Amino acid sequence: MKPYKNKINRIRSFALSLIFIGVVIMYLGIFFRNNEIIMLIFMVLGMIAILGSVVVYAWIGSLSTRALQIICPNCGKQTKMLGRVDMCGHCREPLTMDPSLEGKEFDVAYNKPSVRKETTKK
Ligand SMILES: [Zn+2]
Repeated sequence: MKPYKNKINRIRSFALSLIFIGVVIMYLGIFFRNNEIIMLIFMVLGMIAILGSVVVYAWIGSLSTRALQIICPNCGKQTKMLGRVDMCGHCREPLTMDPSLEGKEFDVAYNKPSVRKETTKK
């Protein structure tokens, strides 16, 4: 099984882990309560991580509006795809909007502009 995931799901889990990391960093700061400066640094770093996740969540929101909503041909559920190739968020079925890539092995590299040029040339 290749480690590819639906892009929006992947970004969402990244934002979730940022919140978790931020909370852990702020929690670690409590152990340094004898040293105000170190505790403050931990608190600020934790806040940055949590704010970062807020930014990422806002980014997912704007990505979702641009994402294509399709019905997965494999599981029949509605999923959103980003870019030229993506994966179903429910069953990890590879999806493509490009007929020239149909039947080819799923590869995230197809989303890179340089690879895109190469495959359209052939
Ligand atoms: Zn599916």
